[in-house]
Amino acid sequence: MTVRVGADAADGRATRGWRITLVIAIGRLVAAMSRMLGRGRGHVVGGRVMVALRPHIVAELSRGKQLTLVSATNGKSTTTRLIAEAMRTRGPVAHNATGANMAPGVASALADGRAAGAGALEVDEAHLPALAAETQAGVVVLMNLSRDQLDRGAEVSRLAARWRTMVEQADWPLTVVGNADDPLVTWACLPGRDVCWVAAGQRWRDDSVLCPACTHTLRHDGADWHCPHCELRRPRPAWSIEGSAIVPPDGRQYPVHLRLPGRVNVANAAMAAAAVETWGVAPDAAVAAFERVEDVDGRYVEATVDGRRIRLLLGKNPASWTELIDMVTDAARPLVVAINARGADGRDPSWLWDVPFELLAGRDAWATGERRFDLAVRLSVAGVTVVGVTADPLAAAAEAARGGAVEAVDMVANYTAFQAVRARVVL
Ligand SMILES: [Zn+2]
Repeated sequence: MTVRVGADAADGRATRGWRITLVIAIGRLVAAMSRMLGRGRGHVVGGRVMVALRPHIVAELSRGKQLTLVSATNGKSTTTRLIAEAMRTRGPVAHNATGANMAPGVASALADGRAAGAGALEVDEAHLPALAAETQAGVVVLMNLSRDQLDRGAEVSRLAARWRTMVEQADWPLTVVGNADDPLVTWACLPGRDVCWVAAGQRWRDDSVLCPACTHTLRHDGADWHCPHCELRRPRPAWSIEGSAIVPPDGRQYPVHLRLPGRVNVANAAMAAAAVETWGVAPDAAVAAFERVEDVDGRYVEATVDGRRIRLLLGKNPASWTELIDMVTDAARPLVVAINARGADGRDPSWLWDVPFELLAGRDAWATGERRFDLAVRLSVAGVTVVGVTADPLAAAAEAARGGAVEAVDMVANYTAFQAVRARVVL
């Protein structure tokens, strides 16, 4: 375990100074106005104002905190939430719970948790190197990289290269918690001085076909993988999963009964447990904290709309869908899929053709959202019976539930479609 002591006294005085307090107050005022005008939750715009008025505010507010940054294509919000819950057993935690994961959102979260001794922050993959350097976070959790937002995201191999440079050039005491099952992530973590490997799994392998070090084809053998042409291979993990138990380096099994569904969340919990152990939170305390988490900013929540229960799931790219399909196989629950293609979703919906919808062949589904027609074509080709194509997601859910004694509907939505539904049913 590494204990890091924060800032010197002079830094502490600076961050307690009236100027930074004023900047935070102005940022909060702007955030409150944004909320009043119905323009969103205000964390981004408020944070933008803080960063504009005080460009080093993220670095200043990070000093002295036991800070963990989490990045991944999938699972970063959930894992960050689990880390925050576990760190909270010891005191207040700065946490960007609404998923605002670039510099402004991070600034807002740090300002709200200014007095907290710890921070758990999810960070956008592309913004991670800059924010890690700025915050000098003691722990960075690197989980997975796969195709996402095809029009915006760089090739995942370029993201991995940027992460690797970050790890290589870190000139502060940094512990990296890395997924040993993702070759891109492994390659990025390798230069780290202190790397804690977790066998967190990787079902979606289409983005790790080639060796990131030498571009030859990787060989996979069960969970193991290696490059036949260079030295890159799966590192021996210190942490792993046995069924629904987390297994730390001491080899003991810690069964975890999460309220969040799916194997993927056990893997997220293992990553989170490894991260908080670095800060001295023991696995049993971490697991107890994880079991309290019911939803993650509306994900997995069951909302009741007009007497019908709707379970909300976020599925935003092929890798996240690959994990979700296990959760929506219950044919007794009608399946509604909502797809948009706005900026935050990626404007190119061709990723739908990479999702293994064939695993749902023979099932009934309803297509909704702004790109419902693209989706309906894809589902039909996969052998899914598209019962309805309806513009409005809640109207689609109502149609789906009409078939009689339907207890609940599963709705899987991608990013902006999910946010729009959540705003109508949860908030
Ligand atoms: Zn290689």
